[in-house]
Amino acid sequence: MEIKSAYIHIPFCVHICTYCDFNKYFIQNQPVDRYLDCLITEMSTVEENNLNTLFVGGGTPTALNYDQLEKLLKAITQNFTIRKEFSFEANPDELTYDKVKLLKSYGVNRLSMGVQTFNEELLKLLGRTHHPEDIYKAITYAREVGINSISLDLMYHLPQQTLKDFEDSLDIALTLDIDHISGYGLILEPQTQFYNMYRKGKLKLPSEDIGEEMYQLLQNKLKQTSFHQYEISNFAKQHHESEHNKVYWRNEGYYGFGAGASGYVEGRRYSNVNPVNHYIKKIENNESPILNSSKLTLNEQIEEEMFLGLRMNEGVNIERFYHKFGIDIYHIYGHQIEELLKKGLIKTNANYMRLTERGKIIGNEVFETFLLSV
Ligand code: SF4
Repeated sequence: MEIKSAYIHIPFCVHICTYCDFNKYFIQNQPVDRYLDCLITEMSTVEENNLNTLFVGGGTPTALNYDQLEKLLKAITQNFTIRKEFSFEANPDELTYDKVKLLKSYGVNRLSMGVQTFNEELLKLLGRTHHPEDIYKAITYAREVGINSISLDLMYHLPQQTLKDFEDSLDIALTLDIDHISGYGLILEPQTQFYNMYRKGKLKLPSEDIGEEMYQLLQNKLKQTSFHQYEISNFAKQHHESEHNKVYWRNEGYYGFGAGASGYVEGRRYSNVNPVNHYIKKIENNESPILNSSKLTLNEQIEEEMFLGLRMNEGVNIERFYHKFGIDIYHIYGHQIEELLKKGLIKTNANYMRLTERGKIIGNEVFETFLLSV
């Protein structure tokens, strides 16, 4: 398996959001510089240096100060040649002009901004530190320095959010000079402030039906613009699809660097130790930071090919499936495919198998049908 992509994890945030269960730590008093040194050591251990895509995510990479950011960027560009897409996740209020200019000077060509909503009250409820003005400013800076692609994350099905609130946010996003929108429904995760508030009855979520309506609004509104949907949650203008995320959905290999980061190399999924201090200790002791690593069985690889591929509008490529696994997709899933076709949840042609609009709404139900081990 050729590896042409890498993910780098920066697990620090300046503020912890109320709904977040990502792998992140409040940055104050964290050994950030030592962490970066370890990350740089880990990056230097891999054989492949020519990549198509590299994504720096978190946490929030822009929580790093200017010097730390420069140190990281220098190490990345010394280690890797990135041919297509060099992405950074960013919080709008942390994107100063100097930082954006620095990112651009090291070849970053895509910014993925955690905007979530343009509604001040909802931003506050989510525990976000930015205001709508920070978003406008960050986009202006990014364009001024010549960043090629800008993506915004938006959230729906938020507490107190009405359909109109979500529509307003979408409308504002569509007036901005951006190329890509990711829309995510809130999932209440245990161990988050939101979850605790919900359990105590202090948080009211819109009904599931409203959540579905919001998703449909997202699809329908963007359909009328120059954005096209190419994945369940992702919409892009022409030539601005996330090349890095497509590597995940096409079930291709990638390296993962940093505390808690995951990778997929030679049919093996692995993840690194998580707490920052454990990760640092491993690297400083010249030990591998990998905590779990397992070779996927053929069935698991096939299941993943289906779940991930069906997320994309292009769907699962039937010929690629055959070349990859040496088996006809209909031979394995003939019965399931027939059932799903009857229910109108998938559609097929000679080359692809795809979710229908209805199938996208209840995607998880469709994915379950393709489990081989039950
Ligand atoms: S900025 Fe992102 S990673 Fe950090 S706490 Fe908020 S949602 Fe989580």
